[in-house]
Amino acid sequence: MIQYEGSIWRPPSEARSLILQASIGCSHNSCIFCVSYKQKRYRIRGAEGIQGDLEGLSEQYKSTVRRVFLADGNALAIPTNEIVKILQLLHDELPNLERVGIYGYAKDVRDKTSKDLQVIKNAGLGIIYLGLETGDDELLRWAGKGIDSNENISACLKIRDAGIALSLTIILGLGGLEKSENHAKRTAEVLNRIDPEYIGALTLMTPPGTRIFDMVSTGEFVPMKPIEILIELKMLVENLSLTNCMFRTNHASNYLALGGNLPEDKMKILASLNKAIESGDESILRPSYARGL
Ligand code: SF4
Repeated sequence: MIQYEGSIWRPPSEARSLILQASIGCSHNSCIFCVSYKQKRYRIRGAEGIQGDLEGLSEQYKSTVRRVFLADGNALAIPTNEIVKILQLLHDELPNLERVGIYGYAKDVRDKTSKDLQVIKNAGLGIIYLGLETGDDELLRWAGKGIDSNENISACLKIRDAGIALSLTIILGLGGLEKSENHAKRTAEVLNRIDPEYIGALTLMTPPGTRIFDMVSTGEFVPMKPIEILIELKMLVENLSLTNCMFRTNHASNYLALGGNLPEDKMKILASLNKAIESGDESILRPSYARGL
């Protein structure tokens, strides 16, 4: 029986993966928009905890597992030798395992050497999901992200150099209307420098328990309207210049689910955005009550 502790979060593309908690919580846990791990104190669960989870699974079930996602928040903060132990265990125990994914945070990548990442890749890590959020340094500071764009870029390039697939998330609406243009343009610049395999755009949510919820309650921060978010997304896509990237807005927080490969599908994505923006019809968008984290 798998021992899950608290709420479990995973990227949309890991919906069919076996989720295992390599760590509990997030070692940073200070972003003003993030509610995911507020109730948890960061600690490493490691190979021992995962071994306990695997012991409870039948051999028949184990043979069906193709993908594993290692939670929680930034399990990549775990020391390299422990991550390697976890990966070896997974590949030993799950005969048909094809890919292991993990959440990472730029500071934790910074604390690993290129050799560490290479060793982790060779032990069988397939993809790292990293929350870039924005390319605007002022916004990163304001959001309590604890890193700047240069640190995000060098962490991401280190991952790419190690040959590990990289999936980045950015947050539409993070700066409100006033900072929207800067946010879109700076974020596109940073994404262009990194040129990742995957980008997922989320839309800012302001759930209770976050600092941003308090700011909305007092009027200090005004969330953007759905059409304003689409205009920001359009500005972002217009400024993207990537070589081979799967771009998606399929997260449940978004008003409009779009997707395609960039650069080939850029015009198609922009055409869909233009259509939605020009219609001004919010009824074709996902209603606010149906958006979720
Ligand atoms: S957004 Fe990521 S780094 Fe920030 S608190 Fe949440 S899990 Fe941690």
